Amino acid sequence: MSNIENCIIIGSGPAGWSAAIYAARANLRPLLFEGAMTEENRVMGRFPMGQLAQTTEVENYAGFPSGKLKEFLSSAIDPSRQYMFPPVEEHAHAVTGPELMELMRQQATNFGTRVITDDVVSVDFSKQPLVLNTSENGSYETRTVIIATGASANYLGLPSEEKFRNRGVSACAVCDGALPRFRNKSLVVVGGGDSAVEEASYLTKYASKVYLLLRRGEMRASKIMQERALSNPKIELVKFSVVDEVLGDDVDPRVGVTGVRIKNLQTNDTSVLEATGMFLAIGHTPNTKFLGGQVETHENGYVAWKQPYRTITSVPGVFAAGDVADDYYRQAITSSGTGCMAALDAERFLASAGFH
Ligand SMILES: Cc1cc2nc3c(=O)[nH]c(=O)nc-3n(C[C@H](O)[C@H](O)[C@H](O)COP(=O)(O)OP(=O)(O)OC[C@H]3O[C@@H](n4cnc5c(N)ncnc54)[C@H](O)[C@@H]3O)c2cc1C
Repeated sequence: MSNIENCIIIGSGPAGWSAAIYAARANLRPLLFEGAMTEENRVMGRFPMGQLAQTTEVENYAGFPSGKLKEFLSSAIDPSRQYMFPPVEEHAHAVTGPELMELMRQQATNFGTRVITDDVVSVDFSKQPLVLNTSENGSYETRTVIIATGASANYLGLPSEEKFRNRGVSACAVCDGALPRFRNKSLVVVGGGDSAVEEASYLTKYASKVYLLLRRGEMRASKIMQERALSNPKIELVKFSVVDEVLGDDVDPRVGVTGVRIKNLQTNDTSVLEATGMFLAIGHTPNTKFLGGQVETHENGYVAWKQPYRTITSVPGVFAAGDVADDYYRQAITSSGTGCMAALDAERFLASAGFH
C-alpha cells in the first residue's frame, strides 16, 4: 500500500462504469476493479463487464435505437477490445449487451478511469482510510468506495440449462420477453414466488401460453399475486414438478429451446412441455460476500441505503449503486442512474472532509 486513493469503484456493470464516468469527470481519478476472469466468476455469472455481457440485444437502454451501429462501434471502441462483440453480421438491430458495456468502459477510460482486472476479496471498513484487499494485486487504501458488484440470478445448475442460456433460457422476463423467439409461443417459468408470478404475467403479453412450474401444490406468492396468476387465462400451473432437462437444438442458435422435460415429484413420471423459452424466477443473490458483513444489508442480503434517494451506506465514505442495492428494479438504466448518484455522493463526501 502506498498512496491513498480518492475513490475506488468495485464492479464493472452499468452502475460501476457510470460511477466511473462521473467520478473521473469530477477529477477524482477513480480506480475501478472490474472483477477477475476466473472460471468461478464465469459459472456464477460474475464475469467482468456485468450481467449485460451475458445477453444479446438490449432494446430498452435509452439512446440506443435499433440501427446500423457497426461503423459507430468500430470508431468508438479500441480495436483491441472489439473481440468481445458477438458475431452480428449487420448491426441493423439493437445494440448488444457486450457492445453497450464496451461503450461504457471506453467512455470511463477516456476520462482517465484506471481499471484493474481483479476481484476485491475482503475489506476493512473499521476506520479511515478504508482498505480493500484484492485477489492478485495486494491491498489498496481509499477515502471512498462505491460498491457496484451487482447481483447474480440464481439458476438451477443443469448442464442443459447452461447450454441454452441466451438461446431460450433467461432469468429476466422484462429484458428478454419481447424477443421474437418468445412471441406467440408457449413458455415455461420456474418458480412460485411473487417474482415468478410477475414474470409469468409479464410474459403473457407476448406468449401464447405460460406454464408456471411449481415444486409444491401451491404458489408461495402473496394472495394478491396468486389471484393474478389464477385469473390469467394464459397461465397454467404445473404442480409438484421440477425441470429434468431443457430440450432443443444447440447447433443452430436460431432454434434454441424447443421444450422442457419435467419430472412430477409425486409420481416420478416425466413429460415434455413444448416451449421456446424457460425463464428462471428463483431469486437473485447480491454479490456482497467480500464485504464480510461490514456494511449493513437488508434481510435478503441487499446493501441497505441509509437515506431514501441517497446511496449512503452504514459506513461513512462507502456508497452502493446498481443491483447490489436494488432487489426491485434491476435494470441497466436504473443501475447507471444510481452509479451516477454514488459518484456525486462520493464527491460531496470528499469535499465535506476537505479532500477535494
Ligand atoms: C441475461 C440478462 C439479460 C438482461 N437484459 C437486460 C436488458 O435488456 N435491459 C436491462 O435494462 N437490463 C437487463 N438485465 C439486467 C441488467 O443486466 C442489470 O440490471 C445490470 O447489469 C445491473 O448492473 P450493475 O452495474 O448493478 O451490476 P452487474 O451488471 O451485475 O455487474 C457487476 C459486476 O461487478 C463485478 N464484480 C462482482 N463482484 C466483484 C468483486 N468482489 N470484485 C470486483 N468485481 C466484482 C462482476 O464482474 C460483475 O459482473 C439483464 C440481465 C441478465 C442476467
